[in-house]
Amino acid sequence: MKNKADAFDVVVIGGGPAGYPAAIRAAQNQLSVACIDEWKNRDGSAAFGGTCLNAGCIPSKALLESTELYHRVHEEFAVHGIKVSGATLDLAQMQKRKGGIVRGMTQGILALFKAAGVTPLQGHGRLLAGRRIEFIAHDGSRRELSARHVVLASGSAPIELRSAPFAAPHIVDSWGALDFDAVPKRLGVIGAGVIGLELGSVWRRLGAEVVMLEALPDFLAFADQQLAKEALRHLRKLGLDIRLGAKVTGAAVAGATVDVTYEDAKGAQRLAVERLVVAIGRRPYTQDLLGPDTGVQLDERGFISVDHACRTGVEGVWAIGDCVRGPMLAHKGKEEGVMVADLIAGRFGEVNYKVIPSVIYTAPEIAWVGLTEEQVKASGRQYKTGVFPFLASGRARALEQATGFAKIVAARDDDEILGVHIVGPMAGELIAEAVLAMEYSASSEDLQRTIHAHPTLAEALHEAALAADKRSIDAINR
Ligand code: FAD
Ligand code: AMP
Repeated sequence: MKNKADAFDVVVIGGGPAGYPAAIRAAQNQLSVACIDEWKNRDGSAAFGGTCLNAGCIPSKALLESTELYHRVHEEFAVHGIKVSGATLDLAQMQKRKGGIVRGMTQGILALFKAAGVTPLQGHGRLLAGRRIEFIAHDGSRRELSARHVVLASGSAPIELRSAPFAAPHIVDSWGALDFDAVPKRLGVIGAGVIGLELGSVWRRLGAEVVMLEALPDFLAFADQQLAKEALRHLRKLGLDIRLGAKVTGAAVAGATVDVTYEDAKGAQRLAVERLVVAIGRRPYTQDLLGPDTGVQLDERGFISVDHACRTGVEGVWAIGDCVRGPMLAHKGKEEGVMVADLIAGRFGEVNYKVIPSVIYTAPEIAWVGLTEEQVKASGRQYKTGVFPFLASGRARALEQATGFAKIVAARDDDEILGVHIVGPMAGELIAEAVLAMEYSASSEDLQRTIHAHPTLAEALHEAALAADKRSIDAINR
C-alpha cells in the first residue's frame, strides 16, 4: 500500500523561477504540493532557485551593480565635484557580497515554501508513466510519489561550442565567468547576446580588456535596430571591443592563455586571451527527466512540446519555463508557473506572450517590449514613431546619465502602442510602464494624457508618446 504522504495534488519538478512560483501558487490554491529540485552549488550545497538565483539573474545583477559603482567612482565622481583617491578593488569582498545575496534569496524560497505549505524535496525527479514520479534524494534514498498533476520545470543549460569546449578555469560558461577570483588581463567572450554583454561589462568595468566575437553581422539582430545601433555606440565607448561578423572556429588552452581562431569578412583571424567565456545561448535541459512511456514529446530542438497553456498533451502533465518554447526569461517562466497552477485549480489563467519585456542590464540599460519598428514595417501596417533623447531629460542629466532614448512605435490607424524600446538609465525599470500600457491596449494618446512626475526618467516615455504625434514639449520634433 502506497504511503499517503507520497501522494500529492501537484508535484513540480524543478525549483527555478518557473517551478517555485508554480508550487507556491498551487499551494495558495489549497492543493497539496511538493517541489523537487536537484540544484547543487560548487561547494556541494543544495539550493532552490535554479539558474536564475544561483548562477544567472541574481549573481549577475549583484556584480553589475558593484562594478558599475567601481567604474563610476573612477570615471564619474570627479564630474560631480567629488574627489576620491585610492579607491581600489577588493574582488574577494565583491564576490562575497554576491554570494551573500544569492544565499539570502535561495534560502528565502525555503521560507516561502514553509509559509505556503509546499513540501521541498531536494534531489532528482523523474516522471514515470501514469503521473508517478521517482524521487532520488541527494543522500541516494529513493521514493515513488504520485500526483494528480505534474509540472515539469527543468530549465536550461549553457550551449557548448564544439570547436571551443569548456576547459575551466580557462574556457568557461556564464556561471564560471561570474566566479573569477581575479580580473583577467584580456577576456574573450563568444556571443554578443544578452548574457555575453552583461558579463563583458562586468569585467570591462574592473579593467579587463574585453573582446567580444559575434557571428552575426548585426548587433542584437532580434532587437529594434535603431535601439541596437545606439546601444552599440555606448557599449563600444565603455571599451567593449565588439567584433561583428566574427564566427569562432576554434579555441585551445596553451599554457596560461587561450588561442582563439575566428573568421570574419577579411578571412581567418587569431586572438590570444587569458580567459574565454562561451555565451552562445542556452538549450532546454531534460536529462533523465522522462522515464519510458510517459508520452511527453520533445520537439526537434529538445524543448518539451506544449500548447499555448503549457499542456504537454498528456493528461495532467504540464511544462513551463526555459524547457519549453518562448523566450528564456525568468519572468516568462514565473507567469507560466502561475498560469498552470491556476488552471489546475480550475481558475482563470493566461500568459500574454505578446507583452513580455526584455532587459539587458548593461550601462546604459537596454529594454523593450512588443514589436520592433522592423517587424511593424514588415507587417505592412502603417505606423508612426516617437523618440525622446535622455539628453533632454533633466533627471537624466542630474544623474550624469543623459545617454540613449525612449522610442515608441504606434499604429497610424487606431494609435495603439505596438512596441516600446528604451536604451538609457534605468531602462529596465522604465519598461514596466510600457508593459502595463500595452497589457491594457493603450494608445500613444493614453500615455500622452497620463501625468508623469517631474523631473523623472519616466517622463521620457511620456515625451516619446507626444513625439509620435510631433507634439513633444521638451525636445525638437522631427
Ligand atoms: P532554471 O532556472 O534552469 O531552473 C530549473 C531547476 O530545475 C534547476 O534548479 C535544476 O537543477 C532543476 N532540475 C532540472 N531537472 C531536474 C530534475 N529532473 N529533477 C530535479 N530538479 C531538476 N533571465 C531574466 O529574466 N533576467 C535576467 O536578468 C537574466 N539574467 C541571466 C543571467 C545569466 C548569467 C544566465 C545564465 C541567465 C539569465 N537569465 C535571466 C535567464 C534565467 O536565468 C532563466 O530564464 C530562468 O532561470 C529559467 O527558469 P526555469 O525555472 O525555467 O529554469
Ligand atoms: P544569446 O542567445 O542572446 O545568449 O546570444 C548568443 C549569441 O552568440 C548569438 O548572438 C549568436 O549569434 C552568437 N554565436 C553563436 N555561435 C557563435 C560562434 N561560433 N561565434 C561567435 N558567435 C556565436
